[in-house]
Amino acid sequence: MTVSLKEKRELNNFLDLLAFSTVKRFYPTAAMNYTQVTSLEDTYDYFIDLVESGELSIVWEVKCTSDKFICARKIDDAPVKEVLLSKEVACDICGHEFTVSVDDLYPAFEISSEYRQIVREDKKKTLNRLKISRNFAKA
Ligand SMILES: [Zn+2]
Repeated sequence: MTVSLKEKRELNNFLDLLAFSTVKRFYPTAAMNYTQVTSLEDTYDYFIDLVESGELSIVWEVKCTSDKFICARKIDDAPVKEVLLSKEVACDICGHEFTVSVDDLYPAFEISSEYRQIVREDKKKTLNRLKISRNFAKA
């Protein structure tokens, strides 16, 4: 399954919005809350495509997976899974100690600085165009 054209448009709008905000990192679930996209898998796949084409970069976060109570503290992160796997970690909130496995890794995404700049410059141009058409309207 892939995202539909409409969903793609919504996700891109979400990314544009983020490019103008101070938000550095976001989760696929945040994109789903903002859009009508209902498949986490499709959202993730689409973002992975954008990582490959340079708009986004991926960061793997290790979250505390203590079974005793829900902690979900972010313990560590890295751009590649391999750096984190088999690492011995301890949670500074609940004290849970564990060896990082694939199940403890959660993907987050960041907008690349290059793409952020492109989006911002594009918006500036649009604003200038609006100014120009307003001047024409006056004449
Ligand atoms: Zn914990």
